[in-house]
Amino acid sequence: MFQKILIANRGEIALRVLRAAKELGIQTVAVHSTADADAMHVRLADESVCIGPPPSRDSYLNIHQIVAACEITGADAVHPGYGFLSENAKFADILAAHNITFIGPSGDHIRIMGDKIEAKRTAKRLGIPVVPGSEGAVSDEKEAKRVAAEIGYPVIIKASAGGGGRGMKVALTEADLEVALQTARTEAGAAFGDDAVYIEKYLQKPRHIEVQIFGDGAGKGVHLGERDCSLQRRHQKVWEEANSPALNAEERSRIGDICANAVANLGYSGAGTIEFLYENGEFYFIEMNTRLQVEHTITEAITGIDLVHEQIRVASGGGLSVTQDDIRFHGHAIECRINAEDPRTFVPSPGTITHFHTPGGLGIRVDSGVYSGYRIPPYYDSLIGKLIVHGRNRVECMMRLRRALDEFVVDGIKTTLPLFRELVGNPDIANGDYDIHWLEKHLAKGE
Ligand code: ADP
Repeated sequence: MFQKILIANRGEIALRVLRAAKELGIQTVAVHSTADADAMHVRLADESVCIGPPPSRDSYLNIHQIVAACEITGADAVHPGYGFLSENAKFADILAAHNITFIGPSGDHIRIMGDKIEAKRTAKRLGIPVVPGSEGAVSDEKEAKRVAAEIGYPVIIKASAGGGGRGMKVALTEADLEVALQTARTEAGAAFGDDAVYIEKYLQKPRHIEVQIFGDGAGKGVHLGERDCSLQRRHQKVWEEANSPALNAEERSRIGDICANAVANLGYSGAGTIEFLYENGEFYFIEMNTRLQVEHTITEAITGIDLVHEQIRVASGGGLSVTQDDIRFHGHAIECRINAEDPRTFVPSPGTITHFHTPGGLGIRVDSGVYSGYRIPPYYDSLIGKLIVHGRNRVECMMRLRRALDEFVVDGIKTTLPLFRELVGNPDIANGDYDIHWLEKHLAKGE
């Protein structure tokens, strides 16, 4: 087992990883920018190292500073959290070259899944259902037209190097194709320095359903069920649930087994998420995230398994603590992402939190790095906490969530709490009846 883990992240996820390391009796090193000297994860870590000024590229994304911090403190492993360097293959390779364990998959697996065309090709080869579309990048308009005619309109043009929902264009008919292709190519070139694009069928009312997987790196793979993250705004997840209100047990184990076998065959190591669009009973692979996700907490709630413990175990060579047969699903869990944002305009609202009071009681978990008197720096994302609620079934979970939202107090800044108070009372949400467009439509109606 590791002696000392350096946590290359900030905010609630740095604290989340720190807690797991402490439970396992492992020493922790926090790294932070000058803007985060007062952060909770810095206060609670055994040691801390300042790695640079506030901008992320000079601190949390600065590989040299982080490797130097490992060497100064003698850390033998790095947990990257999510975001920042968590899906940076070069970072994983550099750590390996320094004999420091990256708590995550190999650089090669990160690289494959980071290239959307390569990821889709690999998924298909491993037996994962994919969205019908071009085999790889399309070279010109003629080829694009041929593929689109074959799969049928509407189609979506996507950047091979894409991420964060950028570089995607929908063509409803052949008349739109030329412009969509050109725009997607130009945007992809500007945003990612790579103008390769591919085409796939555009699904009109899908849900976003993702499967949590784990590989031991030695040919074993398990799945921990799915999460439904259809409630999104600008491709950003807002509310997540496990299990999905749309799947039955047969669909759950079918797609879960496909994913578990795929990661086993890939020889994948650590936690990952295979993301699908789901429509009319069919799953369509969109991407794989080779890291821990923000919403891993709801999977923890329904399985009782600590995913960060498991990541650390696997990375240290200890293998998985569970087999597929050991994994059971209990009840229902929902996560609300509490952001420091105006709940109507979603404009960030940094500032000082004058009062912070979190709900408690059975089935409630709050993961947050903030406290009364904490000043939110303006440099990073606006997530200030996650409210995770568990109940024996979805109805109980929703009742408890409503009560928890009433107890939650954040004064001094604007937050998205009022949005969740509204959502929890909405009949469509109560019925689990929503797709990936529901939230944006609902917000547009409210204005
Ligand atoms: P990114 O890596 O940029 O986030 P994804 O491939 O994960 O790109 O897609 C982001 C979002 O775009 C999806 O969650 C979905 O809302 C939409 N999308 C992607 N592909 C399709 C498709 N074939 N049909 C409909 N919507 C899609």
